[in-house]
Amino acid sequence: MKTCLVVDDSKVIRKVARHILEALNFSVSEAGDGREALERCREAQPDVILLDWNMPVMSGMDFLRALRASEGGWKPKVVFCTTENGMAYIRAAIEAGADEYVMKPFDRDTLESKLQIVGVA
Ligand SMILES: [Mg+2]
Repeated sequence: MKTCLVVDDSKVIRKVARHILEALNFSVSEAGDGREALERCREAQPDVILLDWNMPVMSGMDFLRALRASEGGWKPKVVFCTTENGMAYIRAAIEAGADEYVMKPFDRDTLESKLQIVGVA
């Protein structure tokens, strides 16, 4: 079973993502901010990370930079979640080490196709 870490400060988004990912046969864990996500990754690097941009404590971008600089931190594929007005950040996120991005709100088909693109679904 592939593992996915869902990183988002919205409990509702995490719940929706978990529902979709479990239907796609992923084992899902959650983090509410970047710092918590780094701790999860230190315990075990997931196969893929679904990453929100705006979060308290540590943003998605700061998390991504710290992850990629850490040992084994290039293992997880990172799908960065953005909203339409966050489009300007996509290039920066890709440069920081994100593999793909998905627009919020996403549905099962969209998420599945992004997971296929990064090679985990
Ligand atoms: Mg957020």
